[in-house]
Amino acid sequence: VPLLELRVVTRRYTRRRDGVTAVDGVSLTLAAGEILALVGASGAGKSTLSRLVLGLERPDRGAVLLDGVDIARLRGRALRAERRRMHLVLQDPYDALHPGMRIAEVVGEPLAIAGVASAERGPRVASALEEVGLGPAERFLGRHPHQLSGGQRQRVAIARAIVGQPRLIVADEPTSMVDASLRATILELLLATRERLGTGFVFITHDLALARYVADRIAVMQAGRIVEVGPAEELVADP
Ligand code: ADP
Ligand code: ADP
Repeated sequence: VPLLELRVVTRRYTRRRDGVTAVDGVSLTLAAGEILALVGASGAGKSTLSRLVLGLERPDRGAVLLDGVDIARLRGRALRAERRRMHLVLQDPYDALHPGMRIAEVVGEPLAIAGVASAERGPRVASALEEVGLGPAERFLGRHPHQLSGGQRQRVAIARAIVGQPRLIVADEPTSMVDASLRATILELLLATRERLGTGFVFITHDLALARYVADRIAVMQAGRIVEVGPAEELVADP
């Protein structure tokens, strides 16, 4: 069973009178430990597809299978349990870093939501911070996001993403707002997470060169459809 399988998934927005089929009959698989880059122009449907994968939206048609379980059919507690096995990393780490929270709470929040006791959260938060190169963690636990540099914030965002040991991480343009050296660091951290935990990644980017560098396979999205998917070196489409 693949880690993730999309079967002919369609999502149509009908709020506007003309409507738009943001995701149009998409089928895809992702194996554990695989990095799939999703490339395509603005408006191609990448963000909608990622929300469907994360169980934040429901498709109109089709199945979204996580380890064989169709999350598109789940509700309530069962859906929340599946969502906790995934994590979203955004381009602006501030999106995930609530300014009023201390770093200990920011990184520990996914564990708190999952019901992990606070005594167990502390050591797991410290080891996640060490994983991303922010050890010894005591220097950071009591600070707030605005007291950190951009690079430290992005590391904190990744610590938060990996602390719950998710099966799947969706990274939506995680390096589009950072300089080349921080981009290299972020990619290294993501690749190390894949090695250590066997995490699968859906890596959304505009940057085809970056997709070729980081991904095992690339899916090219245009107007809601996957027009091509395959190993980076065999790709012919120009997204
Ligand atoms: P991308 O992430 O590739 O830029 P999106 O998934 O954001 O693409 O958008 C795909 C299409 O769906 C676009 O036409 C966009 O305007 C539309 N769309 C996205 N989200 C919504 C929404 N919540 N309501 C209505 N239309 C939406
Ligand atoms: P190109 O020659 O087309 O730039 P590269 O393989 O050199 O292709 O780079 C592709 C993308 O991957 C670029 O955006 C580059 O910044 C990034 N990249 C290349 N090497 C590394 C690396 N070691 N660490 C992080 N990012 C890298």
